[in-house]
Amino acid sequence: MYINETIISRPLENLYNEVNELMLLNNKIVKIMVEEINDPQLLEMGAGGYCRFDSIGNLEIKCNDDEYIEYNLSHELLHALLKLKGYPNIILNKDIHEWEAVHYFGNMLHNIIEHKLIIREQEARKIDIKKKQEIYLNKIKEFSAEEYSEAVIVIISWFIELNTQISNYEEYFKSKFKISMQLYEFIMGLDYSDPFSTRKATVKLYREFDRHVKPSLDLTSKVGIDFIPSSRQLGLKLPQVFIIREEKEFYPNSNNHLFLFSIADSQLSFMYELDDSSERGIQSVKSKLINMTVEEFYKSTERNYHIR
Ligand SMILES: [Zn+2]
Repeated sequence: MYINETIISRPLENLYNEVNELMLLNNKIVKIMVEEINDPQLLEMGAGGYCRFDSIGNLEIKCNDDEYIEYNLSHELLHALLKLKGYPNIILNKDIHEWEAVHYFGNMLHNIIEHKLIIREQEARKIDIKKKQEIYLNKIKEFSAEEYSEAVIVIISWFIELNTQISNYEEYFKSKFKISMQLYEFIMGLDYSDPFSTRKATVKLYREFDRHVKPSLDLTSKVGIDFIPSSRQLGLKLPQVFIIREEKEFYPNSNNHLFLFSIADSQLSFMYELDDSSERGIQSVKSKLINMTVEEFYKSTERNYHIR
């Protein structure tokens, strides 16, 4: 099979077909563009591509046209496959600008977990990742991330990419090696056997990261992780599963959402956007929500959800 005049391997073709079939079930398509990436933010992160679902739900994947296409394209297709299979997304409140660091770390830790799952799949599907790993190995030797917590994130990302070869590189990471290794081992020890256990793993990793970073970022309350209800929970009233909080009480600089926290683990799990953020508007939405079942709530928000 060819994509943009580039021939792709059989394992990559199989993966593409699998994603395509899942999309076709919902009458949606996959658009792949192989061209130079020039988004400075993506370049800085070392990303070789991106994937996203557009406003009508079609999948859009953009990939650099270079010698790592096999790795990059499979990487993006696997991000998409995880989402199609119900692995949780995170939810960020970008209106609150002073949470920039919170968003960065919430996003990176979630990405690290997805990347762990992606590499496991790439290996199982016999997709060649060795060539791309060489790049990471070379980057390590020029390692220079200054800010402490950010450096730790970069190091863990490399550990995840290079799992068999990490201990040789202790000297490059200096004082950040020990904590990075601890968090890496924490991540490797969690269960990712299905979307629900992966959600639990992400909740635990946020807690663990908050425990190590001073002052704590409070990722548990500030970054949402998609909730995955059981079929029993779908029939329960919303307040039996979630605590509904007004933003004003906790997050004084933004007033256009209600925050839903899962009672089971206190993790922020949904941000409900308000049309009318006056006191009357908020109270009227709240009294509507507390009488809804979880199923009615999800249907009313038109958000996709998967059942545990
Ligand atoms: Zn990625």
